[in-house]
Amino acid sequence: MSDFDYDLFVIGAGSGGTRAARVSAAHGAKVAVAEEYRVGGTCVIRGCVPKKLLVYGAHFAEDLRDARHFGWDVPDDCAFSWPRLRDNVMKEVDRINTAYTTTIESSGAEIIHQRATVSGPNEVTLADGTRKTARTILIAVGAHPSIPECPGHEHGITSNEAFHLDSVPKRILIAGAGYIANEFAGIFHQLGAHVILMNRTKEILRGYDLQIRDRLLQISMMKGLEFRFDAAFQGIDKGEDGCLTVHMSNHEPVTVDLVMFATGRKPNTYGLGLETAGVELDDHGAIKVDDDNRSTCASIYAVGDVTNRIQLTPIAIREGQAFADNMYGGKSTKVDYDCVPSAVFSHPPLAGVGMTEAEARQKLGSVKVYSSDFRPMKNVLAGRDERALYKMVCDGETDRVVGIHMIGPDVPEIIQSAAVAVKAGLTKAQFDATVALHPTMAEELVLLK
Ligand code: NDP
Repeated sequence: MSDFDYDLFVIGAGSGGTRAARVSAAHGAKVAVAEEYRVGGTCVIRGCVPKKLLVYGAHFAEDLRDARHFGWDVPDDCAFSWPRLRDNVMKEVDRINTAYTTTIESSGAEIIHQRATVSGPNEVTLADGTRKTARTILIAVGAHPSIPECPGHEHGITSNEAFHLDSVPKRILIAGAGYIANEFAGIFHQLGAHVILMNRTKEILRGYDLQIRDRLLQISMMKGLEFRFDAAFQGIDKGEDGCLTVHMSNHEPVTVDLVMFATGRKPNTYGLGLETAGVELDDHGAIKVDDDNRSTCASIYAVGDVTNRIQLTPIAIREGQAFADNMYGGKSTKVDYDCVPSAVFSHPPLAGVGMTEAEARQKLGSVKVYSSDFRPMKNVLAGRDERALYKMVCDGETDRVVGIHMIGPDVPEIIQSAAVAVKAGLTKAQFDATVALHPTMAEELVLLK
C-alpha cells in the first residue's frame, strides 16, 4: 500500500497536464489532476481552438468579396453578426471542454475542480485547505498574458477577453507584433475594425524568416492596417466617451475604442508554492527542468508553457506523453525539439520549419536558397493582388533541405507535410524528383529554382 494519496498529482488540465494525467492513469498510476478554471487549458478555452474558428469566420469577408469574381452575386450589405460567431465558437469550446473532461475521467484519473498549490516535495494544498500527498507532482499550469507596466494599462484587454467582446471595435490598437498580435490583427481587420499594431522594436514576428515576415507586413499595410514601430507605451488615458488615447514614444498619440495587449506570455508560477519544495525558476519565472522534465526537486516535474521551452500545444502534449511513458510505461523517451513546424494564422497565414536563411548562414559553411514568388491562381481570378512566397534553405555542401518558409493561402496545411521531409533530412534533389501535383500551390515546393 502506497504511503501517498496518489502516485501522481497533476496541477493544471491543459494540453500537457491532460495528456500526462490520462496516459499515466492508463499505465496504471493512481492519478489526480487539479484544475482551477476549465479543463482544456489555454489551447482549448482561450487560445488555438477559438482563435482558429475566428480566423475561419473572419476569412469569409475576403471570400465573399472574391466570390463575385467567380460568378456569385453577393450583396453589398451582406450582414455579419459578431454575437452569432462568438457564441457558436464558445459552444464549440464547451463541446471540446466536455470531451477533455470525459477523456480524463474515462482514463481513471480523478479531476479536482480547485486551485492546487505546492506545499512540499510530495504535498499539495487545495483551495479549500485540504492537503493531498503524491509520490510525484507534475506542474502543467501554463502561462498568462504579460502586460507592460504603464499608467492606464488596466484599460486594455488581452486575448483572454477578446473572445468575449460585446461587439467588434471600430478602432483597435494591438500592442506587440508576435503571433497573437498578427493573428488578431487579421481577425479584427477582416471583421471591419481599423487596426493599428504597435511594437517596441522595428520588427514583426521575430524568429520567422525575414523575407516572409516582410511580405506579411507589406500585405497587411496594403490592406490598410497601420503600424507604429519603435514605440514604447507611455500611458493610456480613458476619455469620458470611453475612448482610449494611447501615448507612446516616437509617435503621436492614437485614439481608439479598444487596446489589446499581445506582448508575450509569462509562466504561471507566481504563488504556486514552488519555493516550499526547492523548485528553481529561471529569469523569466519558468520552471527549470532537465531532459526528463524533472525540476530541481526530485519528486516534482513540469511540462508545457510553464517551462517556457517552446510555447506550442503539440510540444506540451509530447512532453506530457513522454513524462507519463517514462515514469509509468517503462520507456525512456526524450522530446525532440529539432525541426518543429509552426504557423501564424494571420491573413494570409505564414509558416515555417527548420532554419531561417539568416540562421543557416550563421550556422552552416555554405547555403543555397531557392524561392518562388507567385500569385496563387485563385487570387489572380479574384483580382486580389496578394503574392505568395515560398523559400527553401539548403545546406550548400550536402544539398540537404534545412528549412522551408512560406506565406500564402493554406501554408500551415502545406508545411505540415513538408516538415516530414525536412525532419527526415531529404535533399533538394529528392524534392525535385517528386512529381508536381498540378494545379496546386504546394507544387511550387518541387519546382523551386
Ligand atoms: P510573442 O512572443 O509571439 O510576441 C510578443 C510581442 O510583444 C513581440 O512583438 C515583442 O516585441 C513584444 N513585447 C514583448 N514584451 C514586451 C514588453 N514588455 N513591452 C512591449 N512589447 C513587448 O508573444 P504572443 O503574446 O503573441 O504569443 C505568446 C506565445 O504563444 C507565442 O510565443 C507562441 O509560442 C504562442 N502562440 C502560438 C500561436 C500559434 O502557434 N499560431 C498563436 C498564439 C500564440 P519584440 O519581439 O519586437 O521584442
